Amino acid sequence: MTNPLLDVWDTPFQVPPFAKITVADFAPALDIAMQDDLAKIDAIGQNPRPATFANTIEALETTSELMHKVLSPFYAMAGAHTNSELDALMREFSPKLAAHGAKISGNKALFQRIETLWNSKDTLGLSEEQMMLLKDQYLGFVRSGAALTGEAEARLTEIKSRLSVLCTTFTQNVLADERDWFMELTDDDLEGLPDFLIEAARNAGKEKGVNGPVITTSRSLIAPFLQFSSRRDLREIAKRAWDARGANGGEHDNLAIAQEILLLRQERAELLGYKNFAEFKLETEMAKTPDNVRDLLMNVWEPAKSAAERDAKILSSMLHADGINDALQTWDWRYYAEQRRKAEFDLDEAEIKPYFELTNMINASFHVAGRLFGLQFEPIELDLYHPDCKSWRVTRDGADVAVFIGDYFARGSKRSGAWCSAMRSQTNYPNAEIPIVVNVCNFAKGDPCLLSTDDVRTLFHEFGHALHQMLSNVTYRSLSGTSVARDFVELPSQLYEHWAMLPEILKQFARHVDTDEPISDTLIERIGQAATYDMGFSTVEYLASAIVDLEYHTNVPNDDVMAAQSRVLDQIGMPSEITMRHATPHFAHVFAGDGYSAGYYSYIWSEVMDADAFAAFEEIENPFDADLAQKLENTVLSKGGSVEPDVLYTQFRGRMPGIDALLQGRGLAT
Ligand SMILES: [Zn+2]
Repeated sequence: MTNPLLDVWDTPFQVPPFAKITVADFAPALDIAMQDDLAKIDAIGQNPRPATFANTIEALETTSELMHKVLSPFYAMAGAHTNSELDALMREFSPKLAAHGAKISGNKALFQRIETLWNSKDTLGLSEEQMMLLKDQYLGFVRSGAALTGEAEARLTEIKSRLSVLCTTFTQNVLADERDWFMELTDDDLEGLPDFLIEAARNAGKEKGVNGPVITTSRSLIAPFLQFSSRRDLREIAKRAWDARGANGGEHDNLAIAQEILLLRQERAELLGYKNFAEFKLETEMAKTPDNVRDLLMNVWEPAKSAAERDAKILSSMLHADGINDALQTWDWRYYAEQRRKAEFDLDEAEIKPYFELTNMINASFHVAGRLFGLQFEPIELDLYHPDCKSWRVTRDGADVAVFIGDYFARGSKRSGAWCSAMRSQTNYPNAEIPIVVNVCNFAKGDPCLLSTDDVRTLFHEFGHALHQMLSNVTYRSLSGTSVARDFVELPSQLYEHWAMLPEILKQFARHVDTDEPISDTLIERIGQAATYDMGFSTVEYLASAIVDLEYHTNVPNDDVMAAQSRVLDQIGMPSEITMRHATPHFAHVFAGDGYSAGYYSYIWSEVMDADAFAAFEEIENPFDADLAQKLENTVLSKGGSVEPDVLYTQFRGRMPGIDALLQGRGLAT
């Protein structure tokens, strides 16, 4: 009896044989695959011959093929169609895989061979891509501490395990405060609230065991409450509670934890030979240095602050017109911004949705890829993990390019959000199969399935990631497609969103589901206005968090973190009517793990690039210019991580990105 995960796959395009796989197959297959990986890696480390690029770096590329074979269908199912057994496996596999990774990075014999090659890299006659592969391997080992010995090595292990405890506690403390606080609403307190919010508040009440609506500090409840509630007294109570998460004293207080995390990160960076944690984190990003990040953030900060200050004046006068003799406070902004939006830029989603039918919008995303890159999409039938998955064979000039799978509908077994993954990523190894690329979304299933404008942007966003995978043209799998720096990976996806809202595309594909009438110019214009409304506020609240994150990790506060936060905000002149999008005591991006620590900037970094990149098409007034599309493919979209991102961008644009297009796009230009 063989395990279908480890068998040869005789399915079309060698997609994982989901019809044969059972949950019980995963654990034994993963054990075998991990052993296989370790045995191959040991053999590379113990090779008696001197290290060469081929017998070490290239050899490492293929050791984990069996693991990919097991894990790609596992992650597909655990993310998009899970059950309690798969959830349990997920909990079992995470520490197993972490330990597996630690075994590899702790393999001293292997690291020595990589280091030898790195030290003689300029004499090896490597191609640009091979050099990137060597650099990735070398830095991967060094950054995990492979070069340390003795006390330093032991201390690093200690720091890592302490950090993982602290980060988990930080998250749990925020969750505890979010669970503990709620505000009960009487009928009088519902003034101004729309039905959907009252309904959600009633459901939250049931969850809390209260007979009636409540507001909790969950963003999905409290943000609309602050936006719609005309009860200024209640808005103040709610906003203060929201701000205080993680800073309420007692056993769930996060301030000392945040401080210790920052100090340990600094120590970790110093052990590894870096000046500070931001320098360590940014080394492998496109931004490269803290100064580059600071420059970008501060360049956007000033115009954003000016826009917010202009808006604050308008909102203040609305507050005064309501007979309130007080300055505009942080609990007032969302409410008066909503009043102003209704008066000046109202956009009724219900009026728009009938124009955005899912199949039409999928066709629009394919149509754009056809015009820009010559890709063709032909529906095919594949046995996948859920009957709602649709598949297409993607070709160009008759040659197979990829298999594309779209899994669009929300269901209980799918985690929330939207994402793109490759069940198999691209490589130019001889006889390699074409990539299999999956887009997963969470659109409410309906017949017809109608999308909001946000949904349409999400559809195009994930398809942009898919193009990055499908058009990838590199030799080594670990450098292909979306295997790029975090602050570069959102460029193809966010860039593709620009085509979704082109009037030309909307006129052709956004047709009323009942009458087939194309969407009107007026509606198109209102969609555009709605997208940039109140951008001064949202840019300021975001940037304040990004700047504090960067400063914390370049200049660790030795005193109380809240005092340090205030110092940073004072320095940049934070408007008093706006608070940080995430303040220190509940800034999970930064303190719940390493993911976005010294990395919260990357959202706007990517947005600067996508705006600047699309401006290249706008400048020549042709969003489908063939030469420019070709250039985009030859640089950003096909090279994966085989070339440094700043080099790729400069090849595409002739220069590094500037912020003008972003300011324009966000309506912040003066
Ligand atoms: Zn994305």
